[in-house]
Order: sequence, then C-alpha cells, then structure tokens
Amino acid sequence: MALSGAVRAARGRCARALRSAVPPAAGTGATRGTGDTRGTGATRGTGDTIFALSSAPGRCGVAVIRASGPGSGAALRSLTGTPEPPPRVMALRRIQDPQTTETLDRGLVVWFPGPRSFTGEDCAELHVHGGPAVVSGVLRALGRLPGLRPAEPGEFTRRAFAHGKLDLTAAEGLRDLIGAETEAQRRQALRQMEGDLGRLYQRWSHALTQALAHLEAYIDFSEDDNVEEEVLTQVRVTVRALLQELRGHLRDGRRGELLRGGVRAVIAGPPNVGKSSLLNLLCRRPAAIVSPMAGTTRDVLEVALDIGGYPLVLSDTAGLRQATDPVEREGVARARARLCQADLVLAVLDATLVPPTPVALEAALAALELPPGTPCVLVLNKADLLGGHGGSLSATGAQGPPTTLLSCGGSPSATGAQGQGPPATLLSCKTGEGLEVLLELLTQQLAQLCGDPLLGSPSLTQSRHSRHLGACAAALERFGDLGDSRDLAVAAEQLRVARRELGRITGHVGAEDVLDIIFRDFCVGK
Ligand code: GDP
Repeated sequence: MALSGAVRAARGRCARALRSAVPPAAGTGATRGTGDTRGTGATRGTGDTIFALSSAPGRCGVAVIRASGPGSGAALRSLTGTPEPPPRVMALRRIQDPQTTETLDRGLVVWFPGPRSFTGEDCAELHVHGGPAVVSGVLRALGRLPGLRPAEPGEFTRRAFAHGKLDLTAAEGLRDLIGAETEAQRRQALRQMEGDLGRLYQRWSHALTQALAHLEAYIDFSEDDNVEEEVLTQVRVTVRALLQELRGHLRDGRRGELLRGGVRAVIAGPPNVGKSSLLNLLCRRPAAIVSPMAGTTRDVLEVALDIGGYPLVLSDTAGLRQATDPVEREGVARARARLCQADLVLAVLDATLVPPTPVALEAALAALELPPGTPCVLVLNKADLLGGHGGSLSATGAQGPPTTLLSCGGSPSATGAQGQGPPATLLSCKTGEGLEVLLELLTQQLAQLCGDPLLGSPSLTQSRHSRHLGACAAALERFGDLGDSRDLAVAAEQLRVARRELGRITGHVGAEDVLDIIFRDFCVGK
C-alpha cells in the first residue's frame, strides 16, 4: 500500500493520533487556549484601547498618533466631532479637544476597522502638525477619554502578534527594519518582516507534523490495518532531508547575525603605523587621537560605519608590541582580547618600514600574531612617504582588491597570486590616496561575510533562532539514531520535541518567556 493509501486507510480511525500530532492552524488568530503563545500576547488589558505617538518624538513636519482597540472609533469621533471617514481613506478634519471643543489642529485622519488593520483591532491614525504642543495636546485629549491609556513599548506589534497578523520572526524583522542603518540591513529586515524566514520554519514544521502523523498512524494501526513499513521508510526519508536542510541553514557562517549586528572589525598593527589615522579617515572625523608618540592609544575605541551598505563596527586598538608601561600593557591585552572576537582584521603596517617583498610582508604580518582563521585585510600605510618605493610595492600587486577572502594565517597577496595571503592595499592616511581601493576591498570582504540578503534562502538573524534550531536538529538526530529500533514511541517524542523548538521560533508554541524580551526592544508607538 502506498504511503498516502496507508494513511487514507487509517484516517477514519486514527483521528486521535492525528489530533495529537497536528498543531492548531497558524496565523488565524483563532488559536487561543491551545497552547499557542499568541493568546497570551496581549496580556495587559486586551479590552483597553491604547494610543501613542508613532512617529519619532521632537519637532517635525508631520507627527502620527495612533490608537488601537475597541474604543478607537469613538475616540476618533470625539476628536473630530464627525463620524469616522470611510475605511482606509485619509480625510482632512478639524481636531478638537473633546471637552472644550477647542481646535487643537487640522490634520488628516484614517480609520482602519479591525481586522483589516496593523494590529487586527479597530485602529485610528491622526496625522497632525509635528509641533510638541500639538502632539501633547492631542495625546492629553486622548488620555482623558474613557477606556483609553498610553501604549507600552512594542504594544501595537504585540497586539498584531496576538491577533495572528505576524509571527515572532516577522515581529523581529519589523524591529530590525526600524533599527536598520544600512541598505543591506534594511533588505534583510524587510525580507524577514515579509515572512520569508517564518514561512521557511512553518514549512519545516508542517513537514514534521505530517511525519509525526504518519508515524503515529503506523504505531496505532500497523498491526491490524496493514499500514506497511513503507510509511515508516517515508517518515525517515522526510526527517533526514529536513535535518540536512536545517544543518545547511545553521551553517550559514552567521551571515544574517553579522549583518544584523554589524561586522566587528579590529584595526591592529605595531605602534605608530597610522591605525588611529585610519579610523579617523574611515569615519571622516577625528574620533581617535593621532600622535607621533608611540603607545598613545590604550583603550579600545569603537565607531559604527556604513561601508558599501554593510554595517561595520570598527575598533582602534593599542599598538601591538612588548610594552613595559603597565597602562600600555593593559592596552595591548585589551587589543588582543578584541582581536579574538573580531570578524575581520585590518592589519596596518608602515609601508616605509617593510621591504616590498612577499616574504618580508609575510614576516611582518606573522610578527603581529593575529588570531588564525580570522579574515584579514592588509593595509600598507604612509604610501606618500614611499617615493620611488611606491612603484615597486604597487608593482608587486599590493594594490587593487583581490577577490578571495583569506584569513590572518596566510601570507599577503603581494605577488598578486590568488590564495597566497590576505588582500593587501597601499594607502596614505595623510593624503587619502588609496582610500577608494581600500573601501572597495572592504566592501568585498563584507559582502562575503554577510552575503546578499536577497539571494538564496533567508539568513538566520538571531542567536535565539540558532538556539532553537540547534535543539530541533539535535532531536532529529536522536530520531535518526534510533534507527530501526522498535521503540517508535520514543522516536515520535523526538519529532514532537523538534516541532516544539520550531514553534518557539515563530511563537506558535511556548514562547511566553521571550515575548517580553522581544517587544521590550521596540519603542513606544511601534
Ligand atoms: P597609531 O599609533 O598606529 O594609531 O598611529 P597614528 O594614527 O597615531 O599616527 C602616528 C603618526 O603617523 C602620526 O604622526 C600621524 O600623523 C602619522 N601618519 C599616519 N598616517 C600617515 C600617512 O599616511 N602618512 C604620513 N606621512 N604620516 C602618517
């Protein structure tokens, strides 16, 4: 009997098995009371109507104030003295204090009756002039209406989650979108907010649910209903394929997390080679103190940069040498600690002090004792002082971006041959010469580290996801380890554990403990 036939045959009688395996429908908002986290999403006074300024605080052209909850329509009527406009159509209205009827402003209002709104509840928006007095006047007027209260941070999005408008990964995507500072971050966050990651996990969860249903049908009815071994084989095939896909997803080199949090790059090198000057050049301001005296940088200085659309968190560190002064020694220790956490190293050498040969460059780089395996870019600074040497260094190929991402362990690609060492480039922090090439080189490295957020399957963006996916993979591995064991009940339990872990990521099961953490990071009004 084929797989579908076997299950069909058992269907009528295995309702119990299927019921226990199939989770409630996702994203419908009709899942409360079934262990679904969403039901607990709006724990604080679900009947309340909340309001907040949703645009950034401060003086601005237009400020957006929104309300969500059953009292939104009445609030809109009170503040405009007119019925709600047609749904989702902007209307110009006089906005008044409901008690005194004094005009507070003239602005645009929009009415979104639930469930066709961001939160799934009745919502109203007031687009008013962004003067502090106008905004506070409208907020005060709303606060005096019965049943209305100011929203807590992230409460609008939390209500949207509670009403099945978005899953947790999409809510996290929205939070990242609001926080995105570079193009690549925006693309990744938007993709996640639009549900790509959630859909991937839902697809896996669905595959697990089916496998579990088939396995339970087999356990319950194989003997008396002739549900054949083929069912079991198919379950194993599904789980193996899923495990493989999951491992691939987990092995993405933290691309999504790097893009989300910024690539941590550390400028390292001997004292006085121009490390602080490089940081200042890249951030276009004198963030770091530049001095001809060696050993002036002692603490780690950090700046956030946008390089070619990718986020870079760049640290300037103390010059790496055998320091005698205890404060400088501490600075070197901090530099070493920071290097161990780096995703990328910008190794800086004084081009006038290194003979332009691959062997000499390799020796100078090795002397820095950089952490092996970390991607590295070699910057040969003070090119303006090279005079005649400049030509020979350039001729060795230390200019122009090689295409491979190589780690600190290799020798520099001064010969121009690929795969020989880290990409290297000549630079003058003093004149700015070579900056374009360095930026191009850095962009290439960042693109390799972060990947293209629009290509391929969506990236893992949070350690929370990796944790649950790791636990999911472990359960699937345990399922596989059971092999041909007859203890199918234990095997089925592993599938349940795996599915629960996936459900925690999207928030479909047992995510109560993370809801506060996730929504706390939102601002008020979001
Ligand atoms: P750090 O100790 O490695 O951070 O080096 P600094 O950035 O403090 O620079 C040390 C000295 O080298 C300062 O006097 C800088 O003005 C000088 N310097 C830095 N970059 C260049 C450069 O590209 N050309 C020249 N001629 N001098 C530089």
